Amino acid sequence: MSEEKKHSSAPPKEGATEGKPDAPTFEQVSSCVHCGICLESCPTYKELRVEMDSPRGRIYLMKGILQERLAPTETVLAHLDQCLDCRACETACPSGVPYSQILEKTRQVLEPQRPHGLIVRLLRWFLFRKLLPNRGVQAFVFKLLWMQQALGLAALGRRLGRAGLLPGKLGALAAQAPAIPFRSFRQATKDAWHPKMGVRFFPARGEAKRRVALFTGCLADQLFAGVNEATVRVLTENGCEVEVLTTESCCGALHIHNGERDAAKELARANVAAFAARPVDAILTNAAGCSAELRHYGELLDHDPAAEAFGRKIRDITEFLVEIAWTPPGGVLSGKVAYDEPCHLLHAQKISAPPKAVLQAIPGIECVPLDDADACCGSAGLYSVTQPELSKKVLARKIDAIRRSGADTVVTGNPGCIMQIRYGLKEAGLPVKVFHPVELLAESYSRNETAQKAEGS
Ligand code: SF4
Ligand code: SF4
Repeated sequence: MSEEKKHSSAPPKEGATEGKPDAPTFEQVSSCVHCGICLESCPTYKELRVEMDSPRGRIYLMKGILQERLAPTETVLAHLDQCLDCRACETACPSGVPYSQILEKTRQVLEPQRPHGLIVRLLRWFLFRKLLPNRGVQAFVFKLLWMQQALGLAALGRRLGRAGLLPGKLGALAAQAPAIPFRSFRQATKDAWHPKMGVRFFPARGEAKRRVALFTGCLADQLFAGVNEATVRVLTENGCEVEVLTTESCCGALHIHNGERDAAKELARANVAAFAARPVDAILTNAAGCSAELRHYGELLDHDPAAEAFGRKIRDITEFLVEIAWTPPGGVLSGKVAYDEPCHLLHAQKISAPPKAVLQAIPGIECVPLDDADACCGSAGLYSVTQPELSKKVLARKIDAIRRSGADTVVTGNPGCIMQIRYGLKEAGLPVKVFHPVELLAESYSRNETAQKAEGS
């Protein structure tokens, strides 16, 4: 059955989406000139070879929906849902089509029309309205997850999930379940609380030159305590006093990618107000998915001046180090290291050189090239759970490239990518470690300190 509505022959209507808050503009959906240059950069098109699973095809579908020429049928929604929102097409596009904005705003417009069942509605409500915005709920849930991991239930779930013995998305979720640390970064650093300042405070090692805030993230704070600790170590080594705010909220990235833009705005307003109250030179993140959203709060909040000012302070940790003419670490490490470019660092923020520069400054490691380092790993927020089959196919290309590189370590700057690549390597039986760049930097600083102490004793 054709997806076109009866009145499909009508000319495009410029104002069809007017009145729908946050819908893409006519100019945005019309900016694609159908040249097709982006197609071979699209991971889903490369896998499926279907025009409607390419950026050009999806823009055609979204324009049709927004102009009310196409109905958002199950088939049409499936093509849109299979998009990773990786933004590789934006980098490839010579016409500057703002693909991600078109997709995310269309998802917001479509969300109320989706025929979710009760369970999906409950899960979405819990994830977007209860878990992500609330650190207390996160602490409770992750403690439960740690306990079931300690009892061996997570390992059992992984085995059942891999064997296909759990239903639907639950199987994908169980199979990919990452290791849960006993304590989050915030739980591990309660002693750093500074009652006068009302923040956790980490003094600079040596002369203090700058004051910065670390945006710890919410799920990243729970799952990647070590990465946040390493980030603090690297910053304090480089003359930074580091603040961690209790009032920091979730960045809203998962909300935006999943049609919950209004909830994301609430979180953005809370973050803008919280950080505006602190006298910091920069707000740093080690999660590309977070910084990509935080940097664009101005656009999200209709160019509110405070949100624009907040966005100007956002820096990825490696970008910041290069900007302040950092002091590279002196401790010698070893191994062949391949760098994987997180989509939301490369395509959403155009940051590519700084992570490579900081890695190359570490003594002893050999940086080896990774084929298609700029290609998505298939993680993409909730994508590996909502689209497990396609996610695995995209991941398989990444794992093959890592195998060919001969690396014994892969480094990437986004928690979701770290989890996804670890999962893929484990499934493939490849003994390759996966780290965030700051973890190697912190290790090198620590080794240098240990060597200096040994020399002095
Ligand atoms: S965002 Fe990624 S998956 Fe989606 S159309 Fe663009 S390149 Fe393809
Ligand atoms: S999104 Fe850009 S590159 Fe892709 S078909 Fe449209 S104009 Fe061409």
